[in-house]
Amino acid sequence: MATGKRHLFVGLVFVYIFIFFISNYIFKPSIQDIFLYIVIGLLFAIWPDVDTKSLGQKVFYTIFLLMDVYLIWKHQYKIAAFFGLIIILPVLAKHRGWTHSKIAMVLVPLPILLYPMITGGLLDFSNLPFYTVAVIGYFSHLLLDGRF
Ligand SMILES: [Zn+2]
Repeated sequence: MATGKRHLFVGLVFVYIFIFFISNYIFKPSIQDIFLYIVIGLLFAIWPDVDTKSLGQKVFYTIFLLMDVYLIWKHQYKIAAFFGLIIILPVLAKHRGWTHSKIAMVLVPLPILLYPMITGGLLDFSNLPFYTVAVIGYFSHLLLDGRF
């Protein structure tokens, strides 16, 4: 089993290849976009291990906790309740269960792509590079875990 550090390193290599490819062949991303590509790619490179004691679990459950406290502070109890329900799902599953599936690699980052469409009501694919780098980070994890 690869450690969180190995997943971060391999994820960083994949994110670098992604940034190199889009910079040379598609468009010049801003420094802010490059920073976000690295952060998103690395987060998704460690996400699949959220179902076991790992770096990914520490990082994501810290983010989940802060998010839930924020929602409660903002009196968004219904959203906080649903959020709480969703975030316990990975720990109920067996290790390398659904979080290590190819379909999860495509579906889990999907809110990144859909967010501008849901909030704007238009067919807005402006988050496609962020979604793509999330899938690439996820892919690097599954590849390192021997899922391909
Ligand atoms: Zn894993």
